[in-house]
Amino acid sequence: MPSTKVVVNFADKPSYDVRVGAGILQAVGQRVRATCPQAHQALVITDSNVAPLYLDAAVSSLKAEGLRTSSITIPAGEESKSVACLSEIWQAMAQKGLDRSACVVALGGGVVGDLAGFAAATYMRGIGFVQAPTSLLAMVDSSVGGKTAIDLPAGKNLAGAFYQPAYVCADTSTLATLNQREWACGCGEIAKSAVIGGDDFFFWLVEHASRLAERDPEVVNEAIVRSVVFKADVVAADEQERSGTRECLNYGHTLGHAIEKLAGYGVYSHGAAVAEGMRFALRLGVALADAPIDLVHEQDALLDSLGLEPLAFSASPSQIIDAMRSDKKNRDGQIRFVIPSDVGAWSVLPVEEDILREHLDAWSRSK
Ligand code: NAD
Repeated sequence: MPSTKVVVNFADKPSYDVRVGAGILQAVGQRVRATCPQAHQALVITDSNVAPLYLDAAVSSLKAEGLRTSSITIPAGEESKSVACLSEIWQAMAQKGLDRSACVVALGGGVVGDLAGFAAATYMRGIGFVQAPTSLLAMVDSSVGGKTAIDLPAGKNLAGAFYQPAYVCADTSTLATLNQREWACGCGEIAKSAVIGGDDFFFWLVEHASRLAERDPEVVNEAIVRSVVFKADVVAADEQERSGTRECLNYGHTLGHAIEKLAGYGVYSHGAAVAEGMRFALRLGVALADAPIDLVHEQDALLDSLGLEPLAFSASPSQIIDAMRSDKKNRDGQIRFVIPSDVGAWSVLPVEEDILREHLDAWSRSK
């Protein structure tokens, strides 16, 4: 299967390519050479799960292009998106003598991409940056759009920068080693993009959901490409979340983040929590935005068939509302949701506490 190129365009800065295909990591060096022509050095940042699998392929490709290449392997897991880990990376960059022409290659999931991107954005006020996502979530979402961040004790992604990569290399053959939990996690973000993206994407996904769950290579490739096209359009319209368009990417996240926080980070995957949040937000849509009830059943069936069954998690409405209060999307103390009124139609609405409590009651009774 040939690889597919999606271009991410901006009005006021250089565009970049996202390439999706099997085996393309072997050519990442050529793409770094082409997109960061000033680079003499490359630094691959990866994690402890991905390094034994794919680091050699990335390093060989970079070295074959004459780039002086070294690597840093961080412990796998969200805990690495920390000030301490970032500080170690900055110091290692300095010790390795990286200069302004160097290029960072983020090889891994969203944790590596967010952390390595922030390191690239801040070291010497910004050096070259290429994303080589290896998780499904990172291919369909986090590697595109330029959000980089670390977590602070006060909350997730609280320190970061918008910093676009020069190139994104989504080698789908790396997905062969992804476990089922992480696979379903990525499927949650694909489903989110499809509901918000519109009829064409949504009904295509409904039709192909079981083949996606079985990891049929053709369907996987197309699901990634469609998600990247969707994300590229959103980011082109609102790179820095100023006009509000980019907020649609938070569909399912208001309840999803609250669940992740209350259950303890890592208990449920991000995508599984987002899927639960999508179920809840669409039910709000029926009550508050005239969303068709049929769509609730279609979305439920879609999530089920992607391995994202309803979570066996429950908490009292008060606990959930408290957890939702720290959401970055809130304004003036009001809890806000991305609420679809149909496939491809959405708005961000504040929901009054008494209404929210009523719906959360119904949600916890359904558990
Ligand atoms: P992750 O990076 O922790 O990866 C999930 C797990 O899969 C890890 O254990 C990792 O080592 C492993 N893994 C990755 N690729 C693998 C492969 N090919 N084979 C075997 N194992 C592999 O998590 P994630 O779900 O990829 O990303 C989640 C992070 O992304 C969160 O920190 C979240 O905040 C961030 N995120 C960022 C954006 C953005 O726009 N920047 C968007 C969504 C999520």
